Amino acid sequence: MDLKKIGKFIAKKRQEKGYTQESLAEELDISNRSISKWERGICLPETTKMPALCELFDITINDLFSGEIVDMKNNEKMLEKNLLELAKQKEQKDKQLLALEWVLGGIGLVTFFAFLFLAIPIAETNFALATTMFITGFVVFMVAMFFGLKIEQIAGYYKCAECGHKHVPTFKAVFVAMHMGRTRHLRCPKCGKKSWQKKVL
Ligand SMILES: [Zn+2]
Repeated sequence: MDLKKIGKFIAKKRQEKGYTQESLAEELDISNRSISKWERGICLPETTKMPALCELFDITINDLFSGEIVDMKNNEKMLEKNLLELAKQKEQKDKQLLALEWVLGGIGLVTFFAFLFLAIPIAETNFALATTMFITGFVVFMVAMFFGLKIEQIAGYYKCAECGHKHVPTFKAVFVAMHMGRTRHLRCPKCGKKSWQKKVL
């Protein structure tokens, strides 16, 4: 996916349709800066804005991803290429997110133990300070765990061991589920059975 090419295509289409960055932003109910970012090839339009944008420009989503009007002959080929590319991008992002979970977990643990070991020798002389330090360490630990778990919930999918269905469970379901590493005991929304579900990308 060529962001620069897509950006130029968006700018060209916008001018063709007689929009300024401001008037297009207003039409799509977003900031001018977003349009400018798309056109400079910094990022893609948000998926929620894509249908409206394509309608205004009178193009297909496939044209948008290709950065050009795709003729009917090449349409299917380009569509497949773009779908693959999108899947690959999501996979990479999920991988990065899951790595971040480890980092967060590590920071949480280290902070917790650091505060704990610092607090112990102080406890005899200044119990209030030691308690405050202990609580601070614990809160940092809990916040890191919360974000770690949130990442685990949204990155990739859980795969049902019974029917192979992949799904993203609710945060609550992930929070209360028994787990071994990232494998969690969850109910499958498709077959309704509970199983040990692996995290997959
Ligand atoms: Zn299932």
